[in-house]
Amino acid sequence: MKFAAVLLLLLAVPGVAKPLVVATTEDLASIATAIAGDELAVDFLAPGSANTHAIELKPSYAMKLVKARAVIRMGLGLDNWVLSLIDNARNRALVPGAPGHIDASEGCSILDVPTDAVDRSMGDVHPFGNPHYLLDPANGLVVARNLSQRFSALFPASEAAFRRNLAAFEVAYEAKQQEWGPMVAQLRGVKVVTYHRMWGYFARFSGIDPVAEIEPKPGIPPTASHTRQVIDLMRAQAVKLIVRSPFYESKTPESMAAQTGAKVVTLAPQVGALPEVTDYWAMFDINLRRLVGAQGG
Ligand SMILES: [Zn+2]
Repeated sequence: MKFAAVLLLLLAVPGVAKPLVVATTEDLASIATAIAGDELAVDFLAPGSANTHAIELKPSYAMKLVKARAVIRMGLGLDNWVLSLIDNARNRALVPGAPGHIDASEGCSILDVPTDAVDRSMGDVHPFGNPHYLLDPANGLVVARNLSQRFSALFPASEAAFRRNLAAFEVAYEAKQQEWGPMVAQLRGVKVVTYHRMWGYFARFSGIDPVAEIEPKPGIPPTASHTRQVIDLMRAQAVKLIVRSPFYESKTPESMAAQTGAKVVTLAPQVGALPEVTDYWAMFDINLRRLVGAQGG
């Protein structure tokens, strides 16, 4: 009887006993899950279907952080909202500077970094450089390596597993590069207008050429005069594609497309932004396929 009770307890334990790590975004959770494997439980706060610049904070977010052993954040000002949640959770393991506070952007190659403190030309939502760095898979690889190191320091008993999982991630990365190669070749130099200034990293990877944004500055809604300028530019440069993300309004891009003969293509700027984008690799699979389809068809 006693043995059976202990056995039941052991059976019940594994799911519960895994240390919890919480990512601020679904993107980061996808990479964290790949590195954590069976060693850790991974959860996230902001769903990929929402604009990370404008997250509606829920009480459940702070609750998740109460139990977390580590928080993984994008940094560069994108998810500063997590700081108040960490305060609310009163979890000292997660405060900035603690080993359990992981800024995934460390070591990533960052675009649009302001050259001097007074340069506000990037707008207020990208004050420290462009925070959408996971749209270049090379940065995803840097993040995977960061997480393997940081997880190993926090949970040394699982270090071998984290290293194995990182090796598998690196193999998958190489395989995906091969798979994406033919699509990337078709997209090189293809001019696009994007809604928000978030596709520079994807451009660096895929070779597309974002020539303008519908937002006058990142986070600033379209204006009539700026929209007219972009339409003129599209005509002058024969731009045939407008890229938008599901959480931005479609009225302005559709109107601009109607006036220029361009097509609007909806892409996923993060994991979870489209239902079929269920993990980090799928984000590139889907976006490349949609761009190639829109460009060729
Ligand atoms: Zn942004």
